[in-house]
Amino acid sequence: MHLYSTRNHDHQTTFEEAIFEGLAPDGGLYYPTSLPQLSGELTPDMSFNDIAEVAASALLGDEISENDLRTIIDRAYNFDAPLHQLENGLSVLELFHGPTAAFKDFGARFMAQTMGYFLEKKNRAITILVATSGDTGGAVADAFNGVAGINVVVLYPKGKVSALQEQQLTAKRPNVTALEIDGVFDDCQKMVKDAFGDKDIAQHRTLTTANSINIARLIPQTFYYFYAYSRLQEPFIASVPSGNFGNLTAGLIAKSMGLPITHFIAATNKNDTFPKYLETGTYTPQPSQQTISNAMDIGNPSNFERIQEMYAEKDIHEDISGYSISEEETAQAVAEVFEKYQYSIDPHGAVAYAAAQKHSGTEHKVILETAHPAKFKEVMDSILPEPTEIPAQLQQSDEKHATPMKNDFAELKAFLCS
Ligand SMILES: *Cc1c(COP(=O)(O)O)cnc(C)c1O
Repeated sequence: MHLYSTRNHDHQTTFEEAIFEGLAPDGGLYYPTSLPQLSGELTPDMSFNDIAEVAASALLGDEISENDLRTIIDRAYNFDAPLHQLENGLSVLELFHGPTAAFKDFGARFMAQTMGYFLEKKNRAITILVATSGDTGGAVADAFNGVAGINVVVLYPKGKVSALQEQQLTAKRPNVTALEIDGVFDDCQKMVKDAFGDKDIAQHRTLTTANSINIARLIPQTFYYFYAYSRLQEPFIASVPSGNFGNLTAGLIAKSMGLPITHFIAATNKNDTFPKYLETGTYTPQPSQQTISNAMDIGNPSNFERIQEMYAEKDIHEDISGYSISEEETAQAVAEVFEKYQYSIDPHGAVAYAAAQKHSGTEHKVILETAHPAKFKEVMDSILPEPTEIPAQLQQSDEKHATPMKNDFAELKAFLCS
């Protein structure tokens, strides 16, 4: 796969280089110079990993052999993405069966395994440095757990993440260090940013990011769109609960590869920068507002530049409609899905459900359910008549392993140079 920077089409690179760089040197995002058409059938008897192998080989086969891709996929995924039908013409694609119970497991685990694969070939080692406000850190820490050649350092704000998130972040893992920072998320992010700019640290370690703009997180998110089609065997509309729009961008890539997704519903909470853009043609980033679907509280979606790139010469309205869903509508959707279908949908999936209700398209609608409802137990229990049960993978069990640190870059620097 060759990729170019959205800010300079002459700057091109390979997949291997792009995943270690993250952002292009000019600050742009990497986007494939061309996308293959998927050939061959996607049949209902193929497993998730079979389907992933077909899609991954089409995209990355020039850099990683099919055998190695299969090994990467089998190490990344020992869980499924079941398509649960609510009624005729309406299904939920459950993306929460991974170890941290959110769809970010799909992207983070594939990225971890591909990075490990490339490092092993070159006998190199790197440090992944991330700041987290909660969910991403857990998914990344877990995904890189035990991957050779990679150390992970996660900074999180003390007392500002949920008990469940903290447990996922601080579980004992041989190559992961959780730093509990006496500050807020913005402080953690600033410290990480300073570390990337520091020459002394660069002498001690090669630092890399693992954030959601990395192309290695986007590619594997196409797999479950192909998988949904293999189960449905008919064209469908995808309703995608969106924050940074990685999930939706991956769907657009799958469509560009020939998958018959007839339309995308960009479902946001009241952070409506993208629906406003579709309506007015003007992109105006906003400060984020807090909601009950908090993983989508984003006022300046980081993948916007990629979407803009894809629609430079094509009317975006043909493929995407946007809806902003209020807090009341979200809660109402959680209640309605439970009453009508005896199904617990989490607040993020509920935003996508509510948006799908507003959309007039007639093809089968697939709602992407991005988190297990138990991750938002307090919200769920305040809306539904029955308490939400906590699944085994989310039960509190591990001891907390975290290193306390002041909100002070010098301390982080000393740690990274030691
Ligand atoms: C990250 C996240 C989203 C938003 O996904 P994007 O790819 O950033 O649009 C939606 N739901 C949940 C539960 C998430 O964790």
